[in-house]
Amino acid sequence: MDVIRRSLVALTLLVGGCVENPITGERELGFVSMAQQIAIGEQQYLPAQQMQGGRYRVDEALTGYVQAVGARVAAASGVELPYEFVVLNNSVPNAWALPGGKLAVNRGLLTELSNEAELAAVLGHEIAHAAGRHGAKSIERGMVSQAVLVGVAVGAADSEYAGTALGVAQTAAGLINQKYGRDAEREADYYGTRFMARAGYDPHAAVTVQQKLLALSERGETSWIEGLFASHPPSAERVANNRALVETLRAEGFQGGEFGAQAYQDALRPLRSDADAYAAYDGARRALAEDRRGDAEARIEEALRLQDREAAFHGLRGDLRLAQSRYDDARINYDRAIERNDGYFAYFLGRGIARARLGAADAAEADLTRSLALLPSAAAYAELGRLAEAAGDHDRAVRYYLTAGQSGSATGQAARTRALTLDLPRRPERYLEAQLSRDAAARLILQVSNPTPVDLADVTVAVETVGQDGARRAYRRTLPALDAGSSRLVLVTEGAAEVLDARAVPVAARVAN
Ligand SMILES: [Zn+2]
Repeated sequence: MDVIRRSLVALTLLVGGCVENPITGERELGFVSMAQQIAIGEQQYLPAQQMQGGRYRVDEALTGYVQAVGARVAAASGVELPYEFVVLNNSVPNAWALPGGKLAVNRGLLTELSNEAELAAVLGHEIAHAAGRHGAKSIERGMVSQAVLVGVAVGAADSEYAGTALGVAQTAAGLINQKYGRDAEREADYYGTRFMARAGYDPHAAVTVQQKLLALSERGETSWIEGLFASHPPSAERVANNRALVETLRAEGFQGGEFGAQAYQDALRPLRSDADAYAAYDGARRALAEDRRGDAEARIEEALRLQDREAAFHGLRGDLRLAQSRYDDARINYDRAIERNDGYFAYFLGRGIARARLGAADAAEADLTRSLALLPSAAAYAELGRLAEAAGDHDRAVRYYLTAGQSGSATGQAARTRALTLDLPRRPERYLEAQLSRDAAARLILQVSNPTPVDLADVTVAVETVGQDGARRAYRRTLPALDAGSSRLVLVTEGAAEVLDARAVPVAARVAN
């Protein structure tokens, strides 16, 4: 990460220059071109959606509606980008924009809004972030992993699937959870409100949205704190700024704009009618996460009774059956989820694990591979590792386990330990360090180090010396135990004054039980 950052700082000095901010028209320093921003957005859009619950599919017409409102506001922005808008199947009230104009709004935010103009205000704000290259600035300042620019994903993730997200997914998490800063928020409010007013909406809706956010933040509802408030902190100042801007816009002639309250109520009706079903589902998820399985069971049944067409409800019942080791039931529930939505990684991951436990290795591998194409996760790589290991392909298993081990999650750690358990006895020299030195009393001393995160046993190092007379001598030294991250000194031989050359190679070791 540091190496990448340093090389990019160097790159900035070489090729960094002035760019025009598309919404303010001002010249500013920057090195992430619009073409790069569009490429980043396109690369990160799918994983960003996947780690936030995937697309909302029960009422496709709602997505069409949001897309139409978004396209109308985007057209009024005057900044041409390949804009896209999706509704995510997520109860947390949130919306975000990736560089290059890829936007998302959660169904949990849509149900909080009162009219189409408020939606236009939210989308206008996010469009202004993308059009105003705010994400690019965060990358330039190193606030978001600059690895996005070189196609290497590192850095910490902070999302629903943070623990298991890998590679490209970690970068997506960094982009959608970033805080742009106060100046960027002020700019996004200002231009976003102008965009929606130009699109024919009444700008007063930008004030009512801010008031709503402020009131909710003061009530301290946690789902809001996790969502929109984290990246877009509401404040009395923002409400006041928007109010002043509305006065300016009225003076400029923006009168009689549309609120679209009826159109919004019509578009939201199917989703609002499922409010109880999603509340039961959210309760079930919390119950399952806390291992209250009876409670989870009851709430899932309630959600399914209210709305059978939501794939996530079937998927969650699959997760519960998986936790109960009822693999055939789990597979049937994931089948139902996939019938209803074949574009979400978690259903393929769950079914892959269920099929693996049922002994259907080929079908399991197909599902796990499909889940990885949607979102790379430690869980899928670890399961593929187990399948390869069971098939006797240890090299392949080790590669999968080590990939899973790049995640800091418990699954990742367990996979890394498994990789070492398999590979270390065969290639101890790859993981262990052995160094020789001669002390003041002319004794040859061996230092053996275990830089791995696992405790080892029966660590054997072969030492070969060459004396002044050209005679070679071989020694073997074994340590019964060598803890993770520790180092030990062992006497090889006394009277080593005559030794001209010596080398040490770890030849055996195993992971301690
Ligand atoms: Zn914002």
